[in-house]
Amino acid sequence: MLMMPDETGRAPSAGPTVGVVGAGAAGILTAVNLLVCAKLQGEPCTVLLIDPAVGEAPGPAYRTTDSRHVLNTPAGRMGITPRDFPDWLSARGHQDVHGYPARRLYGRYLLDLLADTAARSGTAGLRAVPDRITGIGTEHGGGVLALYGASGRTLCADAVVLAVGGLPPGRSWAPGNLRSSPCFVPDPWAPGALDRVAAAGTDLLLVGTGLTMADVALALARHGRVLHAVSRHGLLPQSHAVRPAPPVAPPDFDGADTLDALRRSVRRHVAATRRTHGDWRPALDGLRPVTSGLWQRLNPADRDRFLSEDLRVWETHRHRMAPASAAALQELRGEGLLEVSAGEVVRTDPDGEQVRVGLRDGRELRVGAVVNCTGPETSVAASGDPLLTDLLARGLARPGPRGIGLDTDPDGRLRPAARQTVPGAARVWALGALRRGNLFETTAVPEIKAQAAAVAQAVLGL
Ligand SMILES: Cc1cc2nc3c(=O)[nH]c(=O)nc-3n(C[C@H](O)[C@H](O)[C@H](O)COP(=O)(O)OP(=O)(O)OC[C@H]3O[C@@H](n4cnc5c(N)ncnc54)[C@H](O)[C@@H]3O)c2cc1C
Repeated sequence: MLMMPDETGRAPSAGPTVGVVGAGAAGILTAVNLLVCAKLQGEPCTVLLIDPAVGEAPGPAYRTTDSRHVLNTPAGRMGITPRDFPDWLSARGHQDVHGYPARRLYGRYLLDLLADTAARSGTAGLRAVPDRITGIGTEHGGGVLALYGASGRTLCADAVVLAVGGLPPGRSWAPGNLRSSPCFVPDPWAPGALDRVAAAGTDLLLVGTGLTMADVALALARHGRVLHAVSRHGLLPQSHAVRPAPPVAPPDFDGADTLDALRRSVRRHVAATRRTHGDWRPALDGLRPVTSGLWQRLNPADRDRFLSEDLRVWETHRHRMAPASAAALQELRGEGLLEVSAGEVVRTDPDGEQVRVGLRDGRELRVGAVVNCTGPETSVAASGDPLLTDLLARGLARPGPRGIGLDTDPDGRLRPAARQTVPGAARVWALGALRRGNLFETTAVPEIKAQAAAVAQAVLGL
């Protein structure tokens, strides 16, 4: 239902106003759940969905118009129900309804889902607010949360959900003269970031060899230039199976409370699944529902060891590419258009309109641009993001475990620096990448869907 709120965003009707900051997949799924829950309760409720790009393709992942950028999760796991997104695709004449369709289609599905839900939400109402929130304070003695927009407006809400996604990629690996160089692409997902390098005819260096690199390589590869992709390990993401088997649930991990014990149990689970299914993938997929619990069982020293010794191998096996993307990369490598290797940038020197890059193993590359494909920064403190910096400064939030993201309760509520002394604390929730320190696996849609449902219920007190 379209509400007529006052200038603060609050509707004149009774009922809570919930500010959802961020209109990517997480923000949209949260708004949808809030509207559905409020309707089921028969209570009025206003959802403010706030994002500079609200109403456009949701978030960087689903903004791409390149049809080679496909989902890396099967369509059946992306919708609000297993049938929902495949049915949406089918109704629009798409054939690949159970595979890995173009990501932009999922973006359109989310926008349709939101519009349909809002149109049928009875007493609940949705208001889209094009703005970037730079701080959250309190008004009326702490009774109302005030969301300060970059535009200068202040929105008022009874509760806030942070759905701001991943932080931009970290840049600390890049030498200072590269960071300030026009040859550096600090964030390939920033709108238009790749336009100039796409047109240039020079070789390029992609730093990072994960899923972002895969997308960037597919977009930038062409005859006449070589894409050099380096990372410390030089490992590419594995491919999904062409005909995936269902997940195999792991045995109980009772007693596997240390990293060493956990590694042994996981290896046994993978070996047993290989024997029974001829593939390791169903074993990894079966770990998905228990991964957060296992992460939480590890002590801080073991979590650090996991991050430094196991993370890369875990990510390349857990976050896999669609078979078509893997085949396309293989073809580029076969043609010599993409070279993937272990390597670390240690030096960069401007060289006319290009840059010479020295790698730790002594190699030197001359490239027209260096594209940062290292993936999102995880430290909120290091990110410099105005909203998150403000939340930490006001004590409404504190860094998450190992300094990753923000610290949250099991229902997604932010843990403030000191709960008793911060007005408004306990009425701010988060989902998605911000919860990585607590949950570890929290950035993909299947996890975000579950969080959006749980957060909506917690916010409305269900
Ligand atoms: C290239 C790429 C491909 C991916 N492919 C898949 C896939 O196939 N399957 C899968 O499950 N997952 C995939 N992912 C993981 C992806 O992170 C999630 O699917 C999903 O996009 C995360 O949604 P989000 O809303 O949490 O974050 P985002 O999509 O990043 O959206 C966050 C939104 O918050 C807004 N925002 C940030 N700060 C503020 C602020 N202060 N005020 C207002 N608005 C703000 C941003 O403008 C943005 O629109 C992919 C990720 C990437 C980067």
